[in-house]
Amino acid sequence: MARYTGAHCRICRREGMKLFLKGDRCYTDKCAFARRGYAPGQHGQSKKKLSNYGVQLREKQKAKRIYELLEGQFRRYFEKADRMKGMTGENLLRLLEMRLDNVVFRLGYGSSRREARQLVNHGHFLVNGKKVDIPSYGLSAGDVITVADKSRSSERFKMFAENPKALPNWLQGNVENFEAKVVAEPSRADIDVPVNETLIVELYSK
Ligand code: SF4
Repeated sequence: MARYTGAHCRICRREGMKLFLKGDRCYTDKCAFARRGYAPGQHGQSKKKLSNYGVQLREKQKAKRIYELLEGQFRRYFEKADRMKGMTGENLLRLLEMRLDNVVFRLGYGSSRREARQLVNHGHFLVNGKKVDIPSYGLSAGDVITVADKSRSSERFKMFAENPKALPNWLQGNVENFEAKVVAEPSRADIDVPVNETLIVELYSK
């Protein structure tokens, strides 16, 4: 599977905000954005006014990088969102939120989406009782996610269970029981990513 292999902290510096791509490190004083909160590169500290296109492009790049997707994957989500009923931008964010790797991250398994994706890849989760190791697997309301029996006793999963995370209101369950349910599709208000999806729609609609 193709993936971004560059330095993740450069992405935060490029987008001008902390995107929390490296899990626990992001909350420490080792965070590169906290130390050098300007764009990377020779001209990173020079103030440059972005064109409309530039603003839209940066917003798309930010969303793509938060969910750790490549351009083609992100574009396909947009095309799917555009074919759906309702607001394209909201549909897009909802599709991204309902990916299995993102839901696993929201449930508290993994300190970053990248770690959650790796856990899915390694076959630690079942959806409605069947093993699913595809991070992009799209969940639906009513789906039940459980941790595979063999994984529950591992030190890593015990640690997740001991440090539960507050769940968004569209997910129910807890990491202590290793089981959770998608009770509803998230509304825009439920999705706390710092992205203006309207700008992404404007960019792709040119
Ligand atoms: Fe971004 Fe800081 Fe985390 Fe690096 S450590 S990914 S700069 S939030």
